Amino acid sequence: PEFITGFPEPLQLSPSSYWILRFPYIYEDENQIYAPPKEGSRASQHGYLLKGTYGIMDEVKEGIQYAFQTKNPLTLAISGTGHAGMEAAICNLVERNDVVLIGVNGIWGERAADMAMRQGADVRNFSKPAGENFTLAEIEAALAQHKPAILFLVQGESSTGVVQPLDGAGALCSKHDCLLVIDTVASLGGEPFYMDRWQVDVVYTGSQKVLGAPPGTAPISFGPRAVAKIASRKTPISSFYFDMNWLGNYWGCDDQPRKYHHTAPISSIYSLREALALLAGEGLDKSWQRHSRCRDRLVAGLAKLGLHPLAKDPAARLTCITAVRVPDGVDWKSVTAHAMSSHLVEIAGGLGPTFGQIWRIGLMGQNATEERVDRVLDVLAEGLAKSSHNTP
Ligand code: PMP
Repeated sequence: PEFITGFPEPLQLSPSSYWILRFPYIYEDENQIYAPPKEGSRASQHGYLLKGTYGIMDEVKEGIQYAFQTKNPLTLAISGTGHAGMEAAICNLVERNDVVLIGVNGIWGERAADMAMRQGADVRNFSKPAGENFTLAEIEAALAQHKPAILFLVQGESSTGVVQPLDGAGALCSKHDCLLVIDTVASLGGEPFYMDRWQVDVVYTGSQKVLGAPPGTAPISFGPRAVAKIASRKTPISSFYFDMNWLGNYWGCDDQPRKYHHTAPISSIYSLREALALLAGEGLDKSWQRHSRCRDRLVAGLAKLGLHPLAKDPAARLTCITAVRVPDGVDWKSVTAHAMSSHLVEIAGGLGPTFGQIWRIGLMGQNATEERVDRVLDVLAEGLAKSSHNTP
C-alpha cells in the first residue's frame, strides 16, 4: 500500500541559531539594573555544548531571575499556564484562616480571591472601579484595616488594561508584616519590574504573553520571607504538584540531589529558554521602552478615530494591553468579527463586568511593533466605518 504523503518536512534547527543566545548574568554590579553578557562569564562559556535537561532548566532559571530582576534561589518554571502560577503562589503561602487581602480592579483579583478561599483563607477585598489602580495610600489603609498575612496585587490587569504601580508597595508590606504576591502574567517584559528592589515576596508570569513562547509554563520566584512562611507552615501544602519544596529540589534550587517530581514538559521548557534568551538579547529596558512607545502610538491613533482608553489616567494605562471604550451605537462584535475575518487581526472584547463595553488590543512581545500598531488602527477604522454604515 502507498503511504499518504504531504506532511511537512521536519524542522531543521541549526545548532547555532538554537544555542547562540545566552543569558546575561544579573547583578554583576550591584549598581546596575542588570549586567549585559560579558565575555568569559559563566553564561558565555556555555557555548555550543549540548546540555541535558537539567542544564537547560538551570539556564531557564537564570533567565527567569533576569526577567524578574531577582537573585532568589527559589526561582523556576511551574508546569502549567498562568493560572498554575497563581495557584502555586497561593497554595504554598496560604494556610487555613490566614487573612488574605486582595486588590480587586478586574477579574484577576477575583480569581485570586476564589483560589485563596479554596485554601480556607479569610479573604478580604479592597476594590477600585474598572480602569483604575490603587494608590500607595489606599494600599496602606487596607493593610492597616485588615492586617493580612498576604497581599495580592495584579501588575497588569489585562481585563481592563490597567497597570498597578508597585514601587513602595513591598516596603509597606514589610512594615505591616505581610507578604506581597504579584501577578505579572500580562506585564512582565512590557512594564518595568524589579522583584528584589521592590521587595516583592512572590511573583509569577506566563510564557505566552510578552515572552511569546507557547503557553504551558509559568515562571515563578519566592523570596526569603516567602520561603520562611512555607518553612513555618503547620499544615502540609495542599497540592503535591505545586509543592515548592519538591519543585525547588527538582529545579536544583536546594543543595540536595535532584529527585524526580513530575515529568518535565521539556519541549515547553526548551521553548521558554529561547523566549527568555530573546528577551535577554534585546534587554529588559529596551523591551519596556518598545512596549511603551507602541502603547503611546496606539493611544494617539485611537484619539484620531475618536476612541478613548478605558483608563482615564494616562499613568494607569498598561503598555501591553489597551482597553478601548466602545462608542455608543457601535456593535463591538461586528468590529472584531470584521478584523478577524477580513484581516486575521484578533481584537478581544471585555472580560467579566466590562463585557460588551470595551475592546482590548494586545500589543506584546513580537507583536509590539509600530507596523502592528498602524495595522490594528487601520483595521479598527475600517471596522468602525462598516459598523456605522450598517447602523440603521
Ligand atoms: N493573570 C493575568 C493578569 C492574565 O492576563 C492571565 C491570562 N490572560 C492569567 C493570569 C491567567 O493565565 P493563563 O490563561 O495562562 O492561565
